[in-house]
Amino acid sequence: MDMPENVRRIIERLEDSGYEAYIVGGCVRDSICGRAPFDWDITTSALPEEALAALEKKNIIETGVKHGTVTVRYDNELYELTTFRTDGEYKDSRRPESVTFVKSLYEDLARRDFTINAMAYSDSAGICDPFGGQSDLVAGIIRCVGDPDKRFGEDALRILRALRFASRLGFEIEKNTSDSIHKNAYLLERISAERISSELVQIIDGDFAEKVLLDYSDVLGVFIPEIMAMVGLEQFNPHHIYDVWEHTVKVVSNSPHGKVFRLAALFHDIGKPECFSLDSRGVGHFHGHPHISADMASSIMRRLRFDHKTISAVIPIIEFHDTRPPAEPKSIRRLLSKIGSEAFEGLLSIKRADILGQNPDTFAEKLAYVDELERIFREQTKNGEDYSLKTLAVRGKDLISIGITDGRTIGRILDHLLSMVIDGKAENDRDVLLGIAKDALKKS
Ligand code: ATP
Ligand code: MG
Repeated sequence: MDMPENVRRIIERLEDSGYEAYIVGGCVRDSICGRAPFDWDITTSALPEEALAALEKKNIIETGVKHGTVTVRYDNELYELTTFRTDGEYKDSRRPESVTFVKSLYEDLARRDFTINAMAYSDSAGICDPFGGQSDLVAGIIRCVGDPDKRFGEDALRILRALRFASRLGFEIEKNTSDSIHKNAYLLERISAERISSELVQIIDGDFAEKVLLDYSDVLGVFIPEIMAMVGLEQFNPHHIYDVWEHTVKVVSNSPHGKVFRLAALFHDIGKPECFSLDSRGVGHFHGHPHISADMASSIMRRLRFDHKTISAVIPIIEFHDTRPPAEPKSIRRLLSKIGSEAFEGLLSIKRADILGQNPDTFAEKLAYVDELERIFREQTKNGEDYSLKTLAVRGKDLISIGITDGRTIGRILDHLLSMVIDGKAENDRDVLLGIAKDALKKS
């Protein structure tokens, strides 16, 4: 086990003082399957005060001591040291009323969610794996420690944690655990929006999100009921061979990793069920769906307490995902000035992912179009210009210096100059633009 020297130091110090200490949970799981652990958690038989006494005081941050957690800092790295504990009674399937310190590592492992997360290791004791975590890890199985109904009843967040690990690792959720997830999904109603959205982002961002989203739409439907109308909604359109949810899931998994890209993909067609129509030839249409999707996504994300910055990055991508500007510089500059270059990047990726979620017969032609949009976009922005007032070569103060003092007139002239640049009628050059402004002034 390739643990950092500092972790080894903490464990040795505790052992030297007569306590047990192990690395535990996610870091053991990730080490066994050759992934770099996100963080290193240590569990110990020492009570918090005992741990404080065994380690040098200067390395300890005492904030969590009352709850049985000591944070140790070595070389500016933080390590969480937690006393063996069981969770007390769960009254609201949210968080335990209390924690109880226990004597054995076994009991501490038994409170953990899944077998792959319920292993501990130390150099002196080797691997401690009482629930078959190693064999589940090798077989790629997510399985509750103990009775799934009971474990999800204690803490419903575990339902989303199971989906998160399945999506990240590509593991199968074992049948009893999976049945119990479907049965107990309604318990998620009790979990706070912040915790739900944090798990949701990780679920849709996994390499294996496609299968998880297909198999567990009902779970997402507990906190985003709008999803259920997409499931099974056929599109009756030669461009589409999947129903709206299957299509959505493909767009999510074909999108680049990252919260904004993946949320935009998840919600880009969520308005489709609201505006479905069949024409006289039996072809399905969804007129106006990008705008409806953007509105719905905005209220869903606010409901789930996403931060303002994320919401305002996601919405324009949804709003414009179906816009098909002519592949020529002027149109690209116009769109870019409207939505900004970040949203434009998002647009390129959702367009590609959207195509890959459609009828393969038309992939090549549609992708060639997006490639051309991208080529023009890169060329037009290569000097850092985004065709907004921010990168216009003339500023308000330049106009003041040539004698224009009325604020509204300044605004109007700046907009006019920007339009000329976007339309290719003037170069984005200070002297050129000021010349135009002076002419306009003379004429008025
Ligand atoms: P990650 O790599 O995402 O950090 P992790 O498994 O380390 O995954 P953490 O949330 O850091 O997950 O939790 C650390 C460990 O604590 C888990 O491996 C698991 O043993 C235990 N754990 C965390 N949350 C729960 C929970 N809700 N119920 C039971 N055990 C939990
Ligand atoms: Mg962790």
